[in-house]
Amino acid sequence: MNRRRRIYEGKAKVLYEGPEPGTLIQHFKDDATAFNAKKHALIEGKGALNNSISEYIFQKLGEIGVPTHFIRRINMREQLIREVEIIPLEVVVRNIAAGSLATRLGLEEGMQLPRQIVEFYYKADALNDPMVSEEHITAFGWASPQEIDEIMQLALRINDFLVGLFLGIGIRLVDFKVEFGRLWDNEQQMRIVLADEISPDCCRLWDAQSSEKLDKDRFRRDMGGVLEAYQEVAKRLGVLPQNRPPKGAGPVLVASNSTNPAGKPN
Ligand code: C5P
Repeated sequence: MNRRRRIYEGKAKVLYEGPEPGTLIQHFKDDATAFNAKKHALIEGKGALNNSISEYIFQKLGEIGVPTHFIRRINMREQLIREVEIIPLEVVVRNIAAGSLATRLGLEEGMQLPRQIVEFYYKADALNDPMVSEEHITAFGWASPQEIDEIMQLALRINDFLVGLFLGIGIRLVDFKVEFGRLWDNEQQMRIVLADEISPDCCRLWDAQSSEKLDKDRFRRDMGGVLEAYQEVAKRLGVLPQNRPPKGAGPVLVASNSTNPAGKPN
């Protein structure tokens, strides 16, 4: 396994060369990071849970015609994906005020937004992923106007579908972050596809009854019960991995420095 060529290592995932040209293996780590990796812990079992949750969501999105990079899950921690050229944007869709939006605009967390809001952030750790406008995106050539239109349409479609999916299992989808990539079917044909992952690491998920947080905010805000919250999401989706991770140990703190001038978690 270690002989595989590592293409990229991120905070929560590693990409390895895949078995066929144009494929990659996406490996989900147990690492949890926040505040641009200033806070870092290992949460045993998180990687396997995110792998299963993301597999389920990408499959369902594929079934309604959203193109994605997902091919199939290989094992507890890994999935086979298509190699895409990642567009350097984090696309955030919001339904309810929370997190950086609540802070930036002085909104009460939990307020239903007048309509769904899409935001773009430039993927650049060194800059703390700054928020950017369509003007910046086209001026700097990160995506064309047509690509932005397609990304917006896909993001809103994903949101509509996921709001319903989660409501069906008693969870409110507050907001989430997605990433997109360019996939060339042949030399001429390029499609925008959903890439990366969709899991409690990159969504805000609140229990519809109690408003209990079932996502990474539990880690960011030192609330405890991170693994249990992710397990609850997996259980309600019906995808809790068979070999459940051991319970109890809780997050192991690797580093903590909550100074985060931009107030931007990751
Ligand atoms: O922090 P903020 O409120 O802008 O986050 C909005 C959504 O995007 C949250 O669901 C958060 O988990 C996700 N996000 C992410 N990765 C980042 C920044 C935000 O997954 N780097």
